[in-house]
Amino acid sequence: MPATPAWPPRSSPRLFVDEPLAEGAEIALDGPPAHYLLKVMRLAEGAPLTLFDDRSGDYAATVVAADKRRLTVRAERLLRPRDEVPDLWLCAAPIKRQRFDWVAEKASELGVRRFVPVATARAVVDKIKEGRLRAHMIEAAEQCERNALPELADLTPFAALLADWPGDRQLFFCDERGGGGFRGALRAHDGPAAVLIGPEGGFTDEENAAIRALPQAVPVSLGPRILRADTAAVAAVSLWMAGRGDWDGK
Ligand code: SAH
Repeated sequence: MPATPAWPPRSSPRLFVDEPLAEGAEIALDGPPAHYLLKVMRLAEGAPLTLFDDRSGDYAATVVAADKRRLTVRAERLLRPRDEVPDLWLCAAPIKRQRFDWVAEKASELGVRRFVPVATARAVVDKIKEGRLRAHMIEAAEQCERNALPELADLTPFAALLADWPGDRQLFFCDERGGGGFRGALRAHDGPAAVLIGPEGGFTDEENAAIRALPQAVPVSLGPRILRADTAAVAAVSLWMAGRGDWDGK
């Protein structure tokens, strides 16, 4: 008996739908998602795809009706439940828009649970476009096959971030002026965590002192070279994921 091909084929598109899915649920799509499926992926009636809703999980689905600009898809059966995403927050000062969009996309791919933009004194950007950041994170989730979206916090003032810091969450403070070794810090601290990355201009002396005064803060180094903020974000998240996250190839 030839093995039944994996259904839906891995090559079939994965689409996030922001409404609760269930077996047999039919979703009418128009606008950009419909354009993507109809024109880019050229799906026709009967075509397979995967839907996820950031609530219950991934569903094998089928196109049940299609015309030029709209289509209806039906969730057939649950393929896998919603992911358990490692409990890591990425707290980062906003940097130039394209680069911050890129950081949001990498946070999604790398498995970050919550993305917290932090307004620090030297951040060159004092507002963020939530919609854009969320769109980048959704697109990355569709591509990397995560089915629990990262949470996106509002732009959080630096003082409020520290004042409201959760008691049980370690804050791996990436301090370009020098901190301890990351590996050692990981061994010493299990449990919910966050990494904190400053803006292109770095943290002020006052900010640096305020972070170090936080009981949960663990100053860590990302090596002897000064990394760009976006590079530092990816490096720190990757180190944590490999040491404490879900990268140990279970
Ligand atoms: N303009 C500053 C550097 C800021 S780099 C200066 O020249 O000193 C942007 C952010 O990336 C920093 O705030 C820090 O959070 C992180 N970062 C960059 N290089 C790092 C390193 N070698 N160790 C720890 N954190 C680093």
